[in-house]
Amino acid sequence: MKSNHRPNKSLGQNFLVDARVQGRIVDSCLLKPEDTVVEIGPGQGAITSLILPRVLKLIVIEKDRLLASELKKNYYESHLEIIEGDFLKWDMSVLPEGLVVVGNIPYYISTPIIEKILQHKDKIKRAYLTVQLEFGERLAAKAGTREYGSLSCFVQYYADVKLLFKISPGSFHPQPKVHSCFMSLTLKDRPEVQAKDEEKLFALIQKSFMQRRKTIANSLKGVTEQEQLLEIFKKLNIDPQSRPEELTLLNYIAISNLLMV
Ligand code: SAM
Repeated sequence: MKSNHRPNKSLGQNFLVDARVQGRIVDSCLLKPEDTVVEIGPGQGAITSLILPRVLKLIVIEKDRLLASELKKNYYESHLEIIEGDFLKWDMSVLPEGLVVVGNIPYYISTPIIEKILQHKDKIKRAYLTVQLEFGERLAAKAGTREYGSLSCFVQYYADVKLLFKISPGSFHPQPKVHSCFMSLTLKDRPEVQAKDEEKLFALIQKSFMQRRKTIANSLKGVTEQEQLLEIFKKLNIDPQSRPEELTLLNYIAISNLLMV
C-alpha cells in the first residue's frame, strides 16, 4: 500500500517489509475460507492483503488515525471491516465465536494484548502474534529452563503455545533493536486440570517465582502452616528443596488445589 506515513515510535510501528516473511506468517496461520479473522494493528496492510483472499471476513483494528484512513482509501473489499481504534479498549462481545486473531503487534503492549486474548477465549480459537523473541521464548518456555516463569504458566494454563519461527530485525522498517518471533496460541476449551481458584493459583505462582534462587519450600513459606506445606509436597512427590522453575504448571495447580481443601 502506498503511504506518506512516517513511522510513529510511540505506537510501536515497525512495519514488516520482507515479502518472504509476510508470506510465511500468513501461510502459518492455517486459515480456512470460512474463518473470521481479527487483525490487530494492520499498519500499512503488510499482511492484510495476504489474509483477505483467504477468509470469509477480516476485521482490522488500527489505532493510528492516518493509517486507518489510508487503509480505507486503499481497500474496497466488502468482506473487510476497518476499525480505527485501540484493540485494548475494543468491545469484542459483539463478535462471533471461533475467531482467529493475527497481529504483528506493538511490543510495548504485548502482555495486555495477550491478556485480552485470553479473557476472550470463548470467542477466539487461535491467535498468531509477532512478538519480541525474548518475550516469545518466555511464553513458550517449559519447566526447567531459564525462560520459564509465571508468564509461561499463566499463558499455558489457557493456551497451547508454540514459537513457530524467528524473524530478524532486517525484516522490518524501521529496524527494531531486538529480534522477533512468530507464535501461535491455541486456546484450550478447558485447562488440563482445572484450578479450584484461578486467581489464587496465579498468586501462588507469582509468589513462587519472586525469588527464583530460593527453594520452593522457602518461597512458599507463610502461604499456610509449614507442616501442611511439607505434607502437600510429600503427597505430590515434590522435593521441597526444588527451585521454582523445576515445578511444572500441573505441580502448581495441584499445590494450589490442595491448599484449598
Ligand atoms: N501489521 C503491520 C505490519 O506488519 O507491518 C504493522 C505492525 S506495527 C509493529 C504495529 C501496528 O499496531 C502499528 O500500525 C500501530 O499503529 C498499531 N497499534 C499500536 N497500538 C495499537 C492499539 N492499541 N490498537 C490497535 N493498533 C495499534
